[in-house]
Amino acid sequence: MKEKKYAGVVVDQVHPSTDKLYHYAIPEDLLRNVMPGLRVLVPFGRRNIQGYILTIDNETDISKEKIRYIKKVLDPEPAFEPSIIPLIFWMKKEYHCMLIEAIRCFIPPGLRFNVKEKTQKVVYLERADSLEEWIHSVEKRSPQMAAILNILHQQDNMPVNELLKSAGATYSSIRSLLKKGYIRLEEEEIYRNPWPLEQVYTQPPVLNDEQRKASKEITQYIREGRGTILLHGVTGSGKTEIYMKAAEEVLLKGRQVIVLVPEISLTPQAVNRFKSRFGNKVAVLHSRLSIGERYDEWRRIRNNEVPIVVGARSAVFAPLKKLGLIILDEAHEDSYKSEVRPRYHALEVASKRCEADGAVLILGSATPALEDYYKAQKKEYHLIELKKRADNQPLPYVTIIDMRRDLEMGNRSIFSNELYKALKSTLLRNEQAILLLNRRGYAQFVSCRKCGYVIKCTNCDVSMTYHAREKILKCHYCDYRENYPRVCPVCNSKYIKYFGIATQKAEEEIKKIFPGIRVLRMDYDTTSRKGSHYRILSAFDKGEYDVLLGTQMIAKGLDFPNVTLVGVLAADSALYLPDYRSSEKTFQLITQVAGRAGRGNKPGRVIIQTYQPDHYAIKYASKHDYVGFYQKEIIIRKQFEYPPFSHIIRILMTSDNERELVQYANNMVKWIRNEIEGDKLLQSSLLQLGAYVAPIERIKNRFRWQILIRFREDESSVVRNAYHKLAENLIKEFYCDNITLALDFNPLSLI
Ligand code: ADP
Ligand code: ZN
Ligand code: ZN
Repeated sequence: MKEKKYAGVVVDQVHPSTDKLYHYAIPEDLLRNVMPGLRVLVPFGRRNIQGYILTIDNETDISKEKIRYIKKVLDPEPAFEPSIIPLIFWMKKEYHCMLIEAIRCFIPPGLRFNVKEKTQKVVYLERADSLEEWIHSVEKRSPQMAAILNILHQQDNMPVNELLKSAGATYSSIRSLLKKGYIRLEEEEIYRNPWPLEQVYTQPPVLNDEQRKASKEITQYIREGRGTILLHGVTGSGKTEIYMKAAEEVLLKGRQVIVLVPEISLTPQAVNRFKSRFGNKVAVLHSRLSIGERYDEWRRIRNNEVPIVVGARSAVFAPLKKLGLIILDEAHEDSYKSEVRPRYHALEVASKRCEADGAVLILGSATPALEDYYKAQKKEYHLIELKKRADNQPLPYVTIIDMRRDLEMGNRSIFSNELYKALKSTLLRNEQAILLLNRRGYAQFVSCRKCGYVIKCTNCDVSMTYHAREKILKCHYCDYRENYPRVCPVCNSKYIKYFGIATQKAEEEIKKIFPGIRVLRMDYDTTSRKGSHYRILSAFDKGEYDVLLGTQMIAKGLDFPNVTLVGVLAADSALYLPDYRSSEKTFQLITQVAGRAGRGNKPGRVIIQTYQPDHYAIKYASKHDYVGFYQKEIIIRKQFEYPPFSHIIRILMTSDNERELVQYANNMVKWIRNEIEGDKLLQSSLLQLGAYVAPIERIKNRFRWQILIRFREDESSVVRNAYHKLAENLIKEFYCDNITLALDFNPLSLI
């Protein structure tokens, strides 16, 4: 057989002009070692550059004189498995990213930047046979030195620091022992440990009937090694136990598991449940790891030292070699979709990986995304439902409060009369409450009551939020800050005031109404420091606080048995968004937060304050009726031809020159219309095409326009392929340095 001599290399440089495979000849002495996935150094222009081998070929179009050679292989092992390569090409096609952007998803920055392995000094006993004699010789002069030798006798070796602590010795003892030749020091690699928590093992509970039946079905799928399961279970139905049972099953098969949880609920609580069942078989990946920690977790996984990975969105790229199962917990969460390039959806990537590796995909949720439940109805997904809570506790009783009525009766506080009474009696019983207010800061906006002027950010088209502690106005989009004005900047009147209560102000009000109450606030502003999430949640768990007040980050996944009251201070905040998913989001948020109540053996109660008590999203959520909500919402989606009955393509473009941008957007629409007219299929499926100024017209001084294209859904993927082709050509045609383009398929937000 003729030897393959050319490597197709993607260079590590993010630029559309270099987004292709470059052929390099493989030097004779490397022929045996070179394989796809390897990181290599190649000459590129006048310098050398890192790259990744994707193909190995017999032939090349490049002439013998012009071909250049691979300079060096950078790692002993490939950076990714050969089975990942089709996925890289798929991502490029599906998300219109560059090959290198897709590759970078699969490897940690620590590899590219050559992060050093962390080491520690370990002490070894030089020889065991003369130990007694040695101990004898040092005993009198230095009991510490003797202690060191004794410890090493029991344990052969120990890291220096640990050893000094156990022996109660100082480093001078080590130095003397070294001099005598009794011990030796070795530099050994250790993994940085991002999750240094005490480990308590727990026994699995006996599964209840519903759980057992679900597990049995899932096991069947795992044996077959394929399929997607939608596990729809009410909050507290014990889905996590089912995940762990499934994971056990997969480990028995000698295969591996990825468990994805939304970043926001990647809490110690969630991780500990896996750690306390599977111990050090679990690696944890999340966005707050340092480069070194991430690199070490990645290597631990790649070296087959851990079969289970728990992590946020990007953990879907974890380098497991024999994947048997991927679980997406809270699969409806928006955070599974990347909002930066490459704009992948973890569910889609997971689905591809499962297909490639013969693994099963489980989507778990109390409030499945409409699209997923629709797929289950069409039998594309296998549906398993859990209707009861694991401990047979009833779902909490939900009351809807019409805030218009309270306002009419002269109640201007953030608490309706009902919520006030409920909170009071919760406190009297020494139980805890969770209060949701999905707006951070102090007040939502500042405006003039005389002329109506609303203070906006100078860089963005959004109103500034008042933060009381610092007494400043902040923009939540660009972090621009400015002092709170004394008079209206437009009409000079003194009647300038903040409106719309946000979390800081709510905290203040609660403390005023209930003197002595212990309130813990959890929002973006109180969780920016490393570890703050953990501190807040564990303090609340230990009962150091009465009330946990926060934005949506408190709505999910938390399990505190002493919480018997959940209050939603303003349920409609999401309903006003200009988005076809606003009802769905409202339904999800209310259902999720309501699920935090009554998870112990005491019954829970939920109070929802709203100005739209008759809205179906709020009504169905109050009855815990997902299916009812689904049936109503799916009819509306069908009627207006929104997903899942159509595909939306959003092309967001931003520029600091507004005139140029408008021109560009209009030209693009013309070009698209022209292309579509040349394609019968696309033309007959087209529902909408237009350029619009984005709902937020400016962010960080860049103007924003968007083109929306909507195609009717077809069963085959013919339309899908056609619009991907269209997008590919569009990117080539309209690449431009001053205007940023972002293509998004079925965007989660149109803002
Ligand atoms: P979900 O993920 O569906 O919200 P969890 O898995 O968090 O539900 O389970 C809710 C609570 O019920 C947890 O405290 C869990 O330990 C407990 N639980 C789950 N399954 C059982 C069971 N079979 N027996 C007893 N308790 C269970
Ligand atoms: Zn004014
Ligand atoms: Zn701004």
